[in-house]
This record gives sequence, C-alpha cells and structure tokens, in this order.
Amino acid sequence: MAGVESVGEEHWCLVVPKQEAEERRRRLLEAGLLDRRYRPRQEGDTVLLPLTDGVPGAVLREFEAVPERPDLPRHEIVGGIAIMQENDPAGAGRLLASRPSLHTVLFPETPVEGEYRTRRFAVLAGVPTTRTRVTEYGLRFDVDLSHAYFSARLSTERQRVLAAMEEGERVLDMFAGVGPFAVTLARKADLVVAADLNPAAVHLLVENITLNRVNNVVPVLADAGHLPRYGFRPFDRVIMNLPLAAPRFLPEAAALCRDGGTIHLYALEEQDWEYLSLIREVTWGEVIERRVRTYSPGKWHAVYDITLEG
Ligand code: SAM
Repeated sequence: MAGVESVGEEHWCLVVPKQEAEERRRRLLEAGLLDRRYRPRQEGDTVLLPLTDGVPGAVLREFEAVPERPDLPRHEIVGGIAIMQENDPAGAGRLLASRPSLHTVLFPETPVEGEYRTRRFAVLAGVPTTRTRVTEYGLRFDVDLSHAYFSARLSTERQRVLAAMEEGERVLDMFAGVGPFAVTLARKADLVVAADLNPAAVHLLVENITLNRVNNVVPVLADAGHLPRYGFRPFDRVIMNLPLAAPRFLPEAAALCRDGGTIHLYALEEQDWEYLSLIREVTWGEVIERRVRTYSPGKWHAVYDITLEG
C-alpha cells in the first residue's frame, strides 16, 4: 500500500489516537491483552497496539517482532506469579530476575483437576506462595492458584458480557470461583448472586468484593444443582463457567432464568454446535455459538448465548 512501510509480521491490533495511546496501552497491559512480542508503532496520528486476544474493533497490521530473550523459558503470567511449562529451576531464576513485578515462579505438578478445578504447584523460585493479586480492567482480584481456580484468559469475554448487559440486571454466576465475572458484571447489575462449591474460592470472593468496594454481590457457598431450592426470584442473566460440566446444570440454570433472559453457557468442544441438541431439550429460544479460545489441538472453549423462550 502506498505510503505504508512494510515492517514484518501481520498481527491483530487496536488503532488508537496518539493522545490516548499511553492510557490504552496501560489498560491492555493490565488486562493481559497487550502482546509484548511486537513493538507498538505509529501510523499517522494513531498508535497501533498489538493484541494477545480478540478485542472488539481489532484490525490486522504488520509489526516488527521484539527480539526474543532466548535465555527466558516459556511461561504464563498471573499477577506477580510466572507459571512455567518446564520444571527448570535455573530458567525460573532468570525469569524472576527479568521482571521486577514477579515475586514467584511456579511449575504445575498436576493438570487442573477435581470439582474445584485447582492444580498443585512446585515453587521454582522466589517467595514460596501461590497467592497473588491480579489487575483486570481496573479491578483487582486476590487469587490463590493452588486453592481456587483463576484464569486471566477470559478477561475479554467478561468485558463482552458486560457490554451486552443492560443497567440494573439481576445476574446469577453459578460457578463464580474468586469472582472475576461476578465483580466485573456488578458494574452494571442491580444484584449479582455468586455461587461456588469451594469454600476457599468463596473466601477469596468475599475478599475481592471488599477489595473492589462492591456492594451488590451476594456470595453463596452452594452446589449449583441446589440453587433452585433457595427461592431466588428469576434472574435476567445466568453465567455458567464450568466448561467440563456446565451443560448438565442447564435445567437448573433455565429454572432460575426469566423468559427472555440470557444464559451464557461455556463448554469445551471438538465440534461446532456440539451442545445444541442438549440445549434444545431445555429451550427453543435463540442460540448463538462462538469459539472463545483454543484449549488444545482440536479442542476449544465455546460460549453459547441462549435467550430463553418459555
Ligand atoms: N467463573 C470463575 C472464573 O471465571 O474464574 C471460576 C470458573 S472455574 C472453571 C469453575 C468453578 O466452579 C470452580 O471454582 C469450582 O469450585 C466451581 N464448581 C464446580 N462444581 C460446582 C458445583 N456443582 N456447584 C458450584 N460450583 C461448582
């Protein structure tokens, strides 16, 4: 294209006005959405910010790759903790020294497992803890990776659901964990009921409600299957984020959601629309299915947005 210099690999990015670039860069960084493998660059009066994940309004542009640090092992960052893929204490030491924001480097000794969806970790370097604080779109979450599930990878998805909400909705989060959906959606909701079976998750959820000065989230220590017994008035929106097992709780979700309300069902699938027939056993309402992110080769997290029809 005339006047546009070719600088390397094509990548998704946000195009933002120059004067907003620093603030937008900081917010993307906090949300784990700024892809630091590429250099942000100017284009006319705008700045192009490379992204790690789908963000509304993203466009494709060419970027120059930041030279890799070959001495640093592969890892994922959660707050002040780096989670490595290899059990490599020497690499962990280098990683810890490379970023002042890190306090601990962990290696997962088990996959995400059990009803509580937790992992056991070995501490490879730094402070021996699995607890840290994560910042996501201006909200703060205290997490303890060995006691309660947390993943920053759904941060964009939480913002999508928030954008789809009307002010003043009544929301039920059936598998709330430490509260990232519940606390995010509380920004627009009248009330969020946030349930989880794991006492440690509910404990952290209470801390996160306090930390974010939220006064409209009700934490509930309960099995999602029992929620219909507790006499809640029907909700406008129900979040079902338990990808391996949520589909079997659909009848309970439907019983708790008003006609015309929306259920967001997260599921792990190997075929598009894998859960449609199961959904059709519960409702004939409108269903939209989207892929959220890749889980492993041939498997992905999908979300079904289901509008209930009585
Ligand atoms: N929504 C949270 C998030 O995005 O971080 C947590 C999602 S995690 C994949 C699923 C959560 O469901 C875990 O915290 C687990 O303890 C909880 N859980 C599992 N079975 C449950 C059940 N039958 N009733 C309520 N919570 C349950």
